[in-house]
Amino acid sequence: MTRQTALKLSIGYLITLMAISIGFSTVLYRVYSNELNRGLHRQGTYFLQFQPITEFDDLRQQQLDEGLGHLRGNLIIFNLAILVIGGVASYGLARRTLRPIEQAIEAQNRFTADASHELRTPLTAMQTEIEVALRNPTLDKKETKELLKSNLEELAKLKQLSEGLLRLSGSNGHQILVEPVELAEVIKDALDRVILAASHKQIKITTKLKSVRTKGDQANLTDLVAILLDNAIKYSPEKTTISLKLHRDTHHALVEIRDQGFGIKATDLPHIFERFYRADPSRSKEKTEGYGLGLSIAKKIANVHRGSISVVSYLGKGSIFTVTLPLAKA
Ligand code: ADP
Repeated sequence: MTRQTALKLSIGYLITLMAISIGFSTVLYRVYSNELNRGLHRQGTYFLQFQPITEFDDLRQQQLDEGLGHLRGNLIIFNLAILVIGGVASYGLARRTLRPIEQAIEAQNRFTADASHELRTPLTAMQTEIEVALRNPTLDKKETKELLKSNLEELAKLKQLSEGLLRLSGSNGHQILVEPVELAEVIKDALDRVILAASHKQIKITTKLKSVRTKGDQANLTDLVAILLDNAIKYSPEKTTISLKLHRDTHHALVEIRDQGFGIKATDLPHIFERFYRADPSRSKEKTEGYGLGLSIAKKIANVHRGSISVVSYLGKGSIFTVTLPLAKA
């Protein structure tokens, strides 16, 4: 399909090119033949005094035919050359034009395939549970409640997944980043969201916050910090410490989240910001919930704010995620 589209596009380019070239050649041929005719006519009035009129007319016609014949030959060669060179160049240009479109379609297809795959797991689980329950003629109230509870859990997962997908699909990518945001506030709000999960695992979170401002959307920035904190908690053993630091350099605000968790393998590191990527969970004894969307959402929020996220990780010792954002001018 790609080769066919490129071919169609290049034929379009080539037709345009040839129309211009043939049009240009026709005009050139007309102008040249007029000029030649006029030149020979001028010459004629001078030579007429030495030669009889019929002889001169023959000579003039012969010269005219010869000159135009030459021009025709040259123009045909020129147009053939344009056809060959233009054909190759048009195909190359068409392939180049189509490449980014192809890549975008490919990414979109991959995204849809991955999303459908992730959606299928909780849906299949729900379907199986309901089918088994319906086949059971002695289903009592307690079992029904259990089934509904399990279905509700799967639905919560589906909701979480669809929210993640919606955020990644990116309608909020073009907001105007004019509002100054106090990052210490953002961090406090994010901490409020994760404090319960941290206390369940008896994880202590220490903070060192300076007053630093960036421009952007407070709610999105809170989501970004909450995602990183949530991960730090999920991928750390119980009774460890997470330290959170907010500081600045000359041009940037820096949010640093340091955990004492399982760490990330060097082979996984380049992929963790990809959609649906989850590193091998076997290192953590418990099964961690998630769809591998958190970090890609975090990265997207950072990018929208013209910032970035970097990570350093030591396997078995912990990870440091650093968010860099531009400073709001005072
Ligand atoms: P999820 O947490 O839903 O799997 P994320 O996109 O948030 O998805 O993270 C991708 C992967 O990166 C996780 O599956 C995990 O393996 C790894 N990861 C992220 N943060 C940490 C962390 N602080 N410590 C160890 N591994 C992490």
